[in-house]
Amino acid sequence: MNFELSEEQQQVKNSVREFAESEIRPHVMEWDESQHFSDDLRLKLAELGLMGVIFPEAYGGAGMGYVEYATIIEELARVDGSVGLSVAAHNSLCSNHIYTFGTEEQKQKYLVPLAQGEAFGAWGLTEPQAGSDASGTRTTAIRSNGGWKVSGAKNFITNAICCNTLVAVAVTDKAKGNKGISAFIFDKSMEGFRSDKKENKLGMRASETASVVFEDCYVPDENRVGSEGEGFLQAMQILDGGRISIAALSVGIAQGAYEAALRYSKERQQFGKPISEFEGIQFKLADMATQIEAARLLTLQAAALKDAHCGTTRQSAMAKLFASETAVRVSEESVQIHGGYGYTKDYPAEKYWRDSKLCTIGEGTSEIQRLVIAKQLLKA
Ligand SMILES: Cc1cc2nc3c(=O)[nH]c(=O)nc-3n(C[C@H](O)[C@H](O)[C@H](O)COP(=O)(O)OP(=O)(O)OC[C@H]3O[C@@H](n4cnc5c(N)ncnc54)[C@H](O)[C@@H]3O)c2cc1C
Repeated sequence: MNFELSEEQQQVKNSVREFAESEIRPHVMEWDESQHFSDDLRLKLAELGLMGVIFPEAYGGAGMGYVEYATIIEELARVDGSVGLSVAAHNSLCSNHIYTFGTEEQKQKYLVPLAQGEAFGAWGLTEPQAGSDASGTRTTAIRSNGGWKVSGAKNFITNAICCNTLVAVAVTDKAKGNKGISAFIFDKSMEGFRSDKKENKLGMRASETASVVFEDCYVPDENRVGSEGEGFLQAMQILDGGRISIAALSVGIAQGAYEAALRYSKERQQFGKPISEFEGIQFKLADMATQIEAARLLTLQAAALKDAHCGTTRQSAMAKLFASETAVRVSEESVQIHGGYGYTKDYPAEKYWRDSKLCTIGEGTSEIQRLVIAKQLLKA
């Protein structure tokens, strides 16, 4: 067993850390206030290969695995969770759906520009009436003129407004339940497909979250991903990989919050000494660091299994559950260690706390992760 990153993986980690410190850190609060994902940033992320991390070079990707991917998302989120979230939705949801289940033509047409960062991707599973229960999808696709007419809406879609490409599921045969759901690739130039209400959020504010609407949107059959009726199962498999990225996002947020607390505890003096000299504060720091390490190990375990082409449903859900709840606990303790200053926007602790909460909700809530884990345990 090897618990160290390889030299190359460590280099990737270092270069993303440097990038995040120089290109993201100075803008974190400005982007948070304006709820803006910078186009300029997307181009810089693309230059570093971060818009196509897990895809082969033949498709314009960086040809890396999930261990590198988790490390990259962690490093982005250590500085700004919003950037990590948007990059994750683009890579492991939208682009990976096309890479995993798309035809060669679909990969050439859609995956290559996504992986090169020329296009931005979004992924639509959630609907107003179908959240945790994604099988309750109401968006419909009806056969028409050799293609499909799609009607309905998706909400809470990351990158919904700035995306060029969206992969989304729709009901193609209601009688077949979740086996009657299919996946399609949409592009923004399609008539009848548009983004709608942008959410004004608690955290992850620089990551754009909005709804999309399909109004009799014609989609050619060549844009159907995989066979008819496979969309729900495909989405569940995509989430197995996506949850590793949310676990990594959580580890990064927790790490950033912990480092801020550690730094502050050494600077802040009360009762004539730095607060880091009080056992009450030291125990908090020790618990935070231990929980982060455990979350990182679970995340890297799931990532390594994915790279080894093993099933990761249980490990991805465990990593996502533990890491996201760790992020919430650690960032709350970071606010506590900062005292009143932690409650202000002059210090980074409050933003880590706000951002962390999304991690227990997106790509399946903590309750749903527990159901997934229990199902895996009971069938063993
Ligand atoms: C910032 C943000 C970005 C997002 N990005 C995307 C995206 O890019 N694409 C996408 O498709 N979706 C996205 N989502 C949607 C997200 O995945 C859903 O919000 C999430 O799956 C929960 O669905 P819901 O909000 O409808 O909550 P609900 O399903 O209504 O859940 C409400 C509560 O009930 C609980 N609950 C539900 N069912 C059960 C059960 N069986 N047992 C126990 N408890 C249960 C839940 O855990 C939760 O606590 C995003 C959400 C946010 C906030």
